[in-house]
Amino acid sequence: MTDKHIELGKLLYEGKAKQVYAAPNQDLVIIRYKDDATAFNGEKKGQIEDKGIINNKLSASFFRLLESSGVPTHFVTRINDRDQLCRNIKIIPLEVIVRNVAAGSLVKRTGQAEGTELPEPMVELTYKDDAQGDPLVTKEEALARGAAKPEDIDHICKMALQVNSILCPFLLKRKLKLIDFKLEFGHTDEGQIVLADEISPDTCRFWDADTNEKLDKDRFRRDMGGVKEAYIEVWERVGDYHVTSAE
Ligand code: UDP
Repeated sequence: MTDKHIELGKLLYEGKAKQVYAAPNQDLVIIRYKDDATAFNGEKKGQIEDKGIINNKLSASFFRLLESSGVPTHFVTRINDRDQLCRNIKIIPLEVIVRNVAAGSLVKRTGQAEGTELPEPMVELTYKDDAQGDPLVTKEEALARGAAKPEDIDHICKMALQVNSILCPFLLKRKLKLIDFKLEFGHTDEGQIVLADEISPDTCRFWDADTNEKLDKDRFRRDMGGVKEAYIEVWERVGDYHVTSAE
């Protein structure tokens, strides 16, 4: 891909894995993917070599796939290895987690064995607040905290399940099981709700469909080794998806 030339404006926001820069047009921002990795609410810190490059490319592929399947996203185009041009939106302070198989914090809460298939996909909400460790909230608590309007909460939960139903078969064709993932949404200036943030092995659990080998950030969380190799493996299976790509 030839790099596009878009001038980076001032740094607007720096998160754990990405930076957000102003773009020449106020309706847009440039999102830069970093190699920094954190886990357990920032307690564990490290770097995964080239993670930013892989996640930028993977996220772009997933956003193109979702856009072409009718899910509006903040994604506009990938500019180069680390940067993508996105719509400038106002993030809703909720994380929407979808689970197909028990893992992570659900296993801790329920005592179920990791890998237990759930009877149907489940949706959870957490309130975005690092100081409180992104607590799990009910829809009613999200409302009480003023996170979003009731109809917007219903809408993002439905969109999250739609994303799940698009990603699962796409990934299974590539021998990947989508165990669970986290999404974020935001409002455009026109009031439309769009999918935002990223979709990558940082924010999803991907298991090899045949062996259940973990190919995601759990390798970093649990010091399993082969972290970069796992991210590369996911990238090689997903590839640079474009609307014209063979399904
Ligand atoms: N997740 C995330 N960011 C967070 C919390 C969770 O991207 O701040 C993702 C995580 O990678 C997994 C899913 O959401 O794919 C469910 O995570 P879980 O609640 O099991 O928490 P964890 O075990 O990651 O602490």
